[in-house]
Amino acid sequence: MPADSGLTEALALLGKVLEAEIQAGCKNRATAGGIHAFFTQRFVDHAVSEEEQTRAERVLASLQRYEAASIAERPDLARMIIRRLGATLAQTGNAAPTEARGAHQALVRENEAPPSLPVDRSRRPEPHPLLSPPTPPTSGREEQLQPASASPAPASRPQPEAMERAVAPEEPPSPNTPLAASLDIEAAEALGSPARERQRLEQLGITTLRSALEYWPRDHYDYSAPVRINRMYPDMQVTLVGTLRSVDIRRTANRNLQIIEAKISDPTGLMSVTWFNQPYLLKTLKPREGEQVAVSGKVELKNGRLQLAPRDVEFPADEEAGTNTMRVVPIYPSSEGIAQRWLRKLIRRAVSAGGALITDPLPPEIRTRFGLPDRRAAVLQYHFPESLEERDRARNRLALDELLLIQLGMLQRKHEWQEEGEGRSIAADPEVLSQFRASLPFTLTGAQDTSLAEILTDMSHPTPMSRLLQGDVGSGKTVVAAAALLLCARAGMQGTIMAPTEILAEQHARTLRALLEPHGVSVTLLTGSLTKAQRARAYLDAVEGRVQILVGTHALIQNDFKFNNLGLAIVDEQHRFGVAQRAALKGKGFNPHLLVMTATPIPRTLTLTIFGDLDVSIIGERPPNRQPVETRWAPVERQAFDLIREQIQAGRQAYIICPLVEESEAIEAKAAVAEGKRLQEDVFPELRLEVLHGKLRPQDKDAILGRFRDGELDILVATSVVEVGIDVPNATVMVVQDAQRFGLAQLHQFRGRVGRGAEKSYCLLLADATNPVARERLQALCATDDGFKLAEEDLRLRGPGEFWGTRQSGIPALQVAQVTDIRTLDLARHIAENILADDPTLDAPEHAALAEGLRQFWRQAAAPS
Ligand code: ADP
Ligand code: MG
Repeated sequence: MPADSGLTEALALLGKVLEAEIQAGCKNRATAGGIHAFFTQRFVDHAVSEEEQTRAERVLASLQRYEAASIAERPDLARMIIRRLGATLAQTGNAAPTEARGAHQALVRENEAPPSLPVDRSRRPEPHPLLSPPTPPTSGREEQLQPASASPAPASRPQPEAMERAVAPEEPPSPNTPLAASLDIEAAEALGSPARERQRLEQLGITTLRSALEYWPRDHYDYSAPVRINRMYPDMQVTLVGTLRSVDIRRTANRNLQIIEAKISDPTGLMSVTWFNQPYLLKTLKPREGEQVAVSGKVELKNGRLQLAPRDVEFPADEEAGTNTMRVVPIYPSSEGIAQRWLRKLIRRAVSAGGALITDPLPPEIRTRFGLPDRRAAVLQYHFPESLEERDRARNRLALDELLLIQLGMLQRKHEWQEEGEGRSIAADPEVLSQFRASLPFTLTGAQDTSLAEILTDMSHPTPMSRLLQGDVGSGKTVVAAAALLLCARAGMQGTIMAPTEILAEQHARTLRALLEPHGVSVTLLTGSLTKAQRARAYLDAVEGRVQILVGTHALIQNDFKFNNLGLAIVDEQHRFGVAQRAALKGKGFNPHLLVMTATPIPRTLTLTIFGDLDVSIIGERPPNRQPVETRWAPVERQAFDLIREQIQAGRQAYIICPLVEESEAIEAKAAVAEGKRLQEDVFPELRLEVLHGKLRPQDKDAILGRFRDGELDILVATSVVEVGIDVPNATVMVVQDAQRFGLAQLHQFRGRVGRGAEKSYCLLLADATNPVARERLQALCATDDGFKLAEEDLRLRGPGEFWGTRQSGIPALQVAQVTDIRTLDLARHIAENILADDPTLDAPEHAALAEGLRQFWRQAAAPS
């Protein structure tokens, strides 16, 4: 019987009550006296163990939130609680029979095998997120680092408690596994695994011996120094070493729970250690009364007394002691039913079988120069470090190796591009440049100047430029691009700029014409809306060199378009273009200079990784006349609409972004049209309003946008098509409906549509965000309009795997390194540059191992995960 059937019943009842609540309109009348009070009583009756009490408290907290919420918010909250309850209850149901069996097997085995203690205080259903007790100190690293699909272990990461759950019914043989022939042989073969173990290796994604050795811990517990009882305080992770005084079993009053209580003494005191529902432990522990014992776990305060919640126990007298206690203990990513004890032993065997075969891919000279520890030592120490400091040093080395492979790959890619053939050097004519500056209605900001100088320096060299121009929305990238294009055209070469949408291409053409035509440079727009004849003429003009600057969309690279003499290719809004498209565009010319522009502020660390093949220029400031956009989270739409009216009366214009409809563009368009109708008829009958959506013909989009730009419209109702790049400085209000459904980056882009002139601007987010992550996103957006800060925040909230579609970027997943680790990243970059400077193709014999590692690493990335 599951430990907490009473609590389980109460939880099941709660599920029903909440269903009833939803049915009855969430008035909190489904139970007499309110749902919180009702279940407080129930839970108190049933939560027996301390763990259960914690869980109960968490559920009660969520009920309190439910009661405090408005009636409108309650249904979502109720559904969330039900979902989480569902997950717990399902686990409870499944767990019970297996547990019983596991216990039985453990009992039988205890009699024949050397004592291996199934130290598991968690024969209970896995706590669900809402209920889970505070997790032990994990860095949260792998969740941040790896998209679940790319992680070595199965995607779901059980709580540490759960990993301790079932003790291995079948302990691996002794750690002294014979040395294997190679790291690339099958792990099961190298370890001599019996069938059951093979199955588990598979479950964990361990294939070769190498992959076993690289099955990295996700954290460690420092149980190295025994802590005296009188030095312990609540929440401390400790190892208690002392004498096992007594072991007793008792049952709780309602007979649901069997408790094993051990009393352990050291020279400073006596401490009680309790295991729940593991009666078989009595057999292992009882006979050893009077012996020295080591228990690691967490100190807890219960009924005013300290006690130890055990995680592992070993007897120092036993041969295998010192794997799970009395040391820094690794914690591995695990999956259902695989215990940490088993994993630790497995890794120990893998180390015996293959540790000696690990070689260091870095030549000794590099290692010495940069003071790097040996890789073999690092691998072994990362698994079983002597101290947390040693663990950190080991991890740094392993992280460096990963980042180094990424950097080497990226730099080689860059090198290949640049060596594909000489490009053309385009000298910056100072005369042309100063004329251009003089023709602008403003002076360039310092950041624009610096970026432009970097770009022009690159272009003046015959080696083709590969540069990323990064700048927050509204920072003024276009004018920098225009200057570069002008110099290119005036040097007698063609230039092109590619935009993600027709609207943007059209806008760029308009801006560039205004900026460049006064200097005698023509701008040709190539979009899908041209007639066949027009397009044919544009092609011919381009091939024969009559086109000076060509502006277009993806269509540009998808067709067999040819230039006559392409000197500079610019890609706007990089995050919508993959590496392949960049390369394809480059292939259009001889070997043009390439400038990639992005308004997506990517944290520097990620820039170095994802765009490691590009040099980076950053426009880190906005033009001086800008005021920050006042961003508010408006609970009711009327507030937002009042502000719109006010601003329009003052002569300004507004955007309203429609709710995101993901089913299809057609359905989204339909929804937008309906919303436009509602707004026009019910809300703003007196104002001029039109709807922009993705299903309109390009010329219609243009026309609408043109009317908005020319002030013939007050309000532009739009789907997310306006996301990027529209520049109408007179627009001062951005209202985003259902803001919780958009990502942080996209919301920031929306906001970037206003605040482009000297007038104060506003961004209002309409959202009833009950989802805590959405809530955090919106709060972050209100708190800052610094795109780089938001990018860091987004990185934190979503993890880099999700970041701006980097999943598609083709960069291998990181296992040990963190993309936020700037110092290691810089070091990796530096070392990679050093190595490639002397040996760009890694052909030197001392680089053979590195070259092989590089091939394997990137092959892995290319393989579908
Ligand atoms: P983005 O970097 O988002 O592409 P844009 O190039 O569209 O930004 O520039 C946004 C607006 O700022 C444009 O209206 C542009 O004319 C204006 N702008 C650009 N540079 C400056 C500057 N140095 N001073 C004032 N306004 C500028
Ligand atoms: Mg732009």
